[in-house]
Amino acid sequence: MASGTYRADVCVAGGGLIGLSVAWRAAALGLSVVVADPSPGSGATHAAAGMLAPVSEVTYTEEPLLRLGMASLARWPAFAAELSAESGMDVDHRSDGTLAVAFGADDVTALGELADFMDKLRLPVERLTGRECRRAEPMLAPSVRGGILAAGDAWVDPRRVVAALLAAAGRRGVTLVPARVTGVTTEGGAARGVRLEGGGTVHADHVVLAAGAWSGALEGLPPGVLPPVRPVKGQIMRLRGAPGFLGHCVRGVVHGSSAYLVPRGDGEVVLGASQEEMGFDTRVTAGGLYELLRDARELVPGITELEVVDTFAGLRPGTPDNLPVIGPTSLPGLMLATGHHRGGVLLAPLTAEHVAGELAGGRPEGDPPVAAICSPMRFAGRAAHPYP
Ligand SMILES: Cc1cc2nc3c(=O)[nH]c(=O)nc-3n(C[C@H](O)[C@H](O)[C@H](O)COP(=O)(O)OP(=O)(O)OC[C@H]3O[C@@H](n4cnc5c(N)ncnc54)[C@H](O)[C@@H]3O)c2cc1C
Repeated sequence: MASGTYRADVCVAGGGLIGLSVAWRAAALGLSVVVADPSPGSGATHAAAGMLAPVSEVTYTEEPLLRLGMASLARWPAFAAELSAESGMDVDHRSDGTLAVAFGADDVTALGELADFMDKLRLPVERLTGRECRRAEPMLAPSVRGGILAAGDAWVDPRRVVAALLAAAGRRGVTLVPARVTGVTTEGGAARGVRLEGGGTVHADHVVLAAGAWSGALEGLPPGVLPPVRPVKGQIMRLRGAPGFLGHCVRGVVHGSSAYLVPRGDGEVVLGASQEEMGFDTRVTAGGLYELLRDARELVPGITELEVVDTFAGLRPGTPDNLPVIGPTSLPGLMLATGHHRGGVLLAPLTAEHVAGELAGGRPEGDPPVAAICSPMRFAGRAAHPYP
């Protein structure tokens, strides 16, 4: 297959949650689309917990990211509903909120200050006492002293989303080519397709680079065009609980790092996640799993009784400013949809809408101004990440 020649309006390099979402939305706008990926959905997307949690994940320095996150969160219900209707698959979209809890006096103070900051941003959060936290979530540790409930936070199962996107995109005529893209072909100073491992080619008017943490490593591009994306390793563990084991997504700062538990509708609980600067290392380590279990047990002691279903390490596509890189590059015909770091699941609907709109010839403006916040041009002239 990979030795064939394909022709389409758009070639998407990379079939993770971002590339597949872009392909599906572009096809819905009437464009013919080829997605090239040797193993769709096997990257960071396979590791992701699936939290759609811009409120509980807000930080003091990342307001533009918050704006993107809130806008994409608002798009998720319609995105999930349309995807389920087109694919016939349920993506386990739940909007039951995040409970962020604190243990010691210092933690309680820090969480209170964060709640004040959230109030200033007019984010919908509610302060809870320790008792109220345990009433909302009976499996919480008795030592929880207080918390905040971000009732609007939601989550999906990213692996189900990938399965649904593959089905829905297929129904819309998207061609999936199971091959690695080795380089971008150019003609007259513009991108005109890609070369595939094994000798094949895709000819296209537009190329969208959506190869996640690997987006900085394509051949054939002028200097300064590839994004400075780096891999940020995250280890997770999945446990099997009874449905209803947890009703909310639960998170807290334990031993100085952020730990979370995300319940699925079928009773599965995802524990996450490490953040490690280890290059392209995807080994699941004993130390990584130990820390996940140790921290999650502080939040919800009962997890030690649950069966281990799966462990996995994925590579988040990180950028120097933690914002994604979305939009046209200095090479005509080449667009980027990458660098989503910790929030690619959350940001998929907004990214796909924006990129598909541009591919279809529109000039999507909107609020938030995705083009201004995420422009690849902000890194122009900067070297791509040095990893191979
Ligand atoms: C442990 C962990 C937990 C996370 N939790 C959350 C969360 O709760 N909420 C959230 O919003 N985000 C979360 N994320 C982040 C999220 O997973 C990513 O931002 C998102 O998956 C990025 O999607 P992507 O499609 O850009 O990249 P990926 O999913 O990595 O997909 C990239 C694809 O490109 C393909 N590819 C690579 N090179 C080539 C090539 N040369 N040619 C063709 N194809 C290629 C790969 O096979 C892969 O399928 C988490 C990430 C991790 C690691």
